[in-house]
Amino acid sequence: MWPWIAGAAAAVALATAWTARERRWRDRLRDQSLRIAELRTQRHLALVEEQSRQQALLDSMLEGVLVLDEAGCVEHANPALLRLLGLEAEPRGRPVAESVPVPGIADLARRAIQHGRITDHEVGLPGPAPRAFQVSAVALRDADRILAGTLFVFHDLTQHKRLEEQRRDFVANVSHELRTPLSLIKGYTETLLGGAMDQRDTMVRFLHTIDRHADRLTFLIEDLLTISRLESGQVVMNMQPVFLRDVVEAVLDDLRRRANERSVQLRNEVPGSIRVHGDGDRLQQVVLNLVDNAIKYGKPGGDVAIGARASEEDIVEAWVSDDGGGIPPEARERIFERFYRVDRGRSREQGGTGLGLSIVKHIIHAHGGEVRVASDVGKGTTFFFTLPRVNDEVQG
Ligand code: ADP
Repeated sequence: MWPWIAGAAAAVALATAWTARERRWRDRLRDQSLRIAELRTQRHLALVEEQSRQQALLDSMLEGVLVLDEAGCVEHANPALLRLLGLEAEPRGRPVAESVPVPGIADLARRAIQHGRITDHEVGLPGPAPRAFQVSAVALRDADRILAGTLFVFHDLTQHKRLEEQRRDFVANVSHELRTPLSLIKGYTETLLGGAMDQRDTMVRFLHTIDRHADRLTFLIEDLLTISRLESGQVVMNMQPVFLRDVVEAVLDDLRRRANERSVQLRNEVPGSIRVHGDGDRLQQVVLNLVDNAIKYGKPGGDVAIGARASEEDIVEAWVSDDGGGIPPEARERIFERFYRVDRGRSREQGGTGLGLSIVKHIIHAHGGEVRVASDVGKGTTFFFTLPRVNDEVQG
């Protein structure tokens, strides 16, 4: 019996020993597997984290980023690129030539692969709202120099091009505006020197014309300087509480003679209680330009009224209205542009520079307000502008 028990015990002891060893092995194996799994998870997480960091970086970039795979299909297009190209969804997996509406994009990818990179290539996107981009592309290769794809970066040049064009137009316009009175002054002076001085009447008439064009040059240069100072932010607005009615009255005093020449009736209907936050001198310039236009382009013998009301708690809306010929609908958007005139000849004849409304817009914007026009062709025009209101109840 005992040997059997001993044998059994030995077997149990052995089995227990084996089981213990096996368990240790198993535990060790499990620990190792766990450790490996943990390492893998950590690496995976780090990779995921890195990828999401890169994704966040791409998503937050202002530049458009496009990644193609080695076959030239879209692998990634960041939100900026979708916005710049007007795409609704990422065209992932689709051939670039079919899905990215940039002329010559597939050819650019080929050249980037051939040369390694392409820098600062300009492309235009035609359409109702044309856009321009500066594109750089680089071929992506792995450690073994095998092609892995192509990376594009799109830098939006649209605004830059528009500003460049505006600047070119502005210089051309200024030169043209200066040349006209100058050539007239030169022409009349030459005629006088050529013998016209012998007739007194002709001489006086010519000298008046020269004087008028010299005045035009002066106004033009003054307006240009004002615009340039306003646009470059050099003008510091001296904001103070101002009674709007007083501003209007000061302007009407200056313009009464001009209005009388055209038998135009001027009416200051601004309530005496209305106060605005503003730079008094600049606001006089706004009212002067608007009332001067109303006299110039309004009906001879007509009526010009200036009014104002508190439109919201913090805002005053003021207006200058006339009963003249009005402004055609297609011109209403453009009259605030520099040098835009509905009738160039008429504006010049009246001594206009084409800059008055542009100056008005700048000054009102610098006050945080808005300016707009309402017009009925054949019936009249009203210019509205808003200004911050001095709230007397709050001020006490
Ligand atoms: P200008 O020096 O030519 O008057 P503005 O910038 O003041 O330049 O005005 C631009 C154009 O807007 C004018 O040439 C004119 O055609 C039009 N305009 C401005 N005010 C009026 C108005 N009250 N009635 C009709 N047209 C106007």
